Amino acid sequence: QALVDLVTSRLRDIPDFPEPGVVFKDVTPLLADGEAFSAVVRDMAERRRGTVDLVAGIEARGFIFGAAVAHELGIGFVPVRKAGKLPGRTRGVSYDLEYGSATIEIHEDSFVGGERVLVVDDVLATGGTAAATCELLEGSNATVVAFEALIELAFLHGRDRLPGRDVHTTIVVG
Ligand code: IMP
Repeated sequence: QALVDLVTSRLRDIPDFPEPGVVFKDVTPLLADGEAFSAVVRDMAERRRGTVDLVAGIEARGFIFGAAVAHELGIGFVPVRKAGKLPGRTRGVSYDLEYGSATIEIHEDSFVGGERVLVVDDVLATGGTAAATCELLEGSNATVVAFEALIELAFLHGRDRLPGRDVHTTIVVG
């Protein structure tokens, strides 16, 4: 509960971003607070210590939390990027957004096969991004063992898109 209170006190709601009607959860105050950022990263890492070989972080804020968790565990990090950003040969998956679609990519040689991967992002909203990431990784010979996010927007039911998966979120909103 102390962690939940600390995190909650370091988040900021930005109304009408990125479009009218959306209340955006801004994590930058938490990142700027060394105690809060460190507590979140250590909590995610300790829950997964010894059970994962790699961390995959989703662009862009999943890079910040995911890379820190990987460092804490002394394991490697794989960036899951928006289309067109990775320099090598890639493998991608497209998924539907509320309006339109998005594509995420990894390098096609990110995994040799059988690596146990922890997927990290900042926010679990509709779950589309997380589900697409799991699909992409598992289509690339990795095993997704868990998903961690800082914030879960429960009213969007993202967990329903990750059936049977080990999903943990630091705070649940709504
Ligand atoms: P989903 O695919 O609908 O679950 O959306 C999750 C993705 O959108 C994550 O990569 C988040 O970084 C981003 N996202 C959605 N809502 C928010 C928010 O309120 N704050 C920050 N990021 C968000």
